[in-house]
Amino acid sequence: MLGDKEVLDAVQGYIEERGESLAEPLSGASAITWHSLLKGQIVRSIESRSEEKHLHPGPLDLSDHPVYDTIDDYQIPRPRDPAEQRTQKMVRRGSIDERSCACGNGEIRCPRCEGEGRIRCEQHQPCGSCRDSTCCLLCDGAGRSALKPAEKQAVAVSMQKAGGDRGDRTRCYECGERDVACVTCRGRGRVQCSTCQGGGSRPCPDCAGDGKVTHEHCAGTGRTVEWTEGTITRAPRTDEVRLPEPGVLYWARRLAEQHATWTPTTLTDNDPLRACVQKDFGSALKPLLRPHHQEVARRTKLEYVRFAKVAVDEHPHRIYYVFPTLKGTTVVRCPSPRRTWQIAGIVASVLLLLVLINRFIA
Ligand SMILES: [Zn+2]
Ligand SMILES: [Zn+2]
Ligand SMILES: [Zn+2]
Ligand SMILES: [Zn+2]
Ligand SMILES: [Zn+2]
Repeated sequence: MLGDKEVLDAVQGYIEERGESLAEPLSGASAITWHSLLKGQIVRSIESRSEEKHLHPGPLDLSDHPVYDTIDDYQIPRPRDPAEQRTQKMVRRGSIDERSCACGNGEIRCPRCEGEGRIRCEQHQPCGSCRDSTCCLLCDGAGRSALKPAEKQAVAVSMQKAGGDRGDRTRCYECGERDVACVTCRGRGRVQCSTCQGGGSRPCPDCAGDGKVTHEHCAGTGRTVEWTEGTITRAPRTDEVRLPEPGVLYWARRLAEQHATWTPTTLTDNDPLRACVQKDFGSALKPLLRPHHQEVARRTKLEYVRFAKVAVDEHPHRIYYVFPTLKGTTVVRCPSPRRTWQIAGIVASVLLLLVLINRFIA
């Protein structure tokens, strides 16, 4: 741990190394302020226990599952690594119920055809060739001509004159007239159903004509297994530690990340830093270290650094930070807050001046 004398010596050495002289050696602790930082993670293993009824279609071997009596009393070892995710499945003693399914053989009557194997099918389909025109120019598929013989003659003559679609027309099956009906349906407007060939029924697609389908409840095995399953889950939860709270010592923390050597601290009884960390961060750490509900293990990985901020009377525009390192110390020089505001003020004045000159020229 650094002391006041080491810090003053380090700053004096730093200043002299740069060839800047000091009227008298640095002395007194009045110009030193001490600060400390803590960072790291607390990883907890959080456990949850639950029970659920399960049903498995078909036979199932559960003999490799651990057996428990009361889920909350079941003991499993503490996790070696709290960051590990783990799920253990178990079977409650005496809960396994293996039985044959009510269906008997894994099949049930097909609900779509009600066991018939066939379903109804339309005997006819609309004629595709004349869907958008007339199936018979004279009777429109009605079978009886609405025209008187003289009118029929007139229609036939006009069709002949027009040349029209005579070639596409044939004798109507319904009314008997020549060259008036659709060649596909011959004036009927519909054709025989190609699926059932007019028979009016077709094989059921759900059971392929069997009349029976697989029973889903038992997956066609005729057997089921029911049991009560207990699950113990252990999931990691990580809390980041960063003290003091964000915003405080912002610049110093950035410099410490870059230049300082942080010391690991476990906060256990044999940790030499424990008292120091407790003194600096005790009240802020307390809620972070409080055991979590259902916590079964934890790993605390923290790093601590204590550093000094030194103000030298002869250099009022500077601040010196002294950080501990593996070799001893490192000094980082920064403009003092007053100096920073002065520089900002100068920059603002120069900008204002430029604006004024610009206006004057324009
Ligand atoms: Zn069944
Ligand atoms: Zn069926
Ligand atoms: Zn007709
Ligand atoms: Zn037709
Ligand atoms: Zn059909």
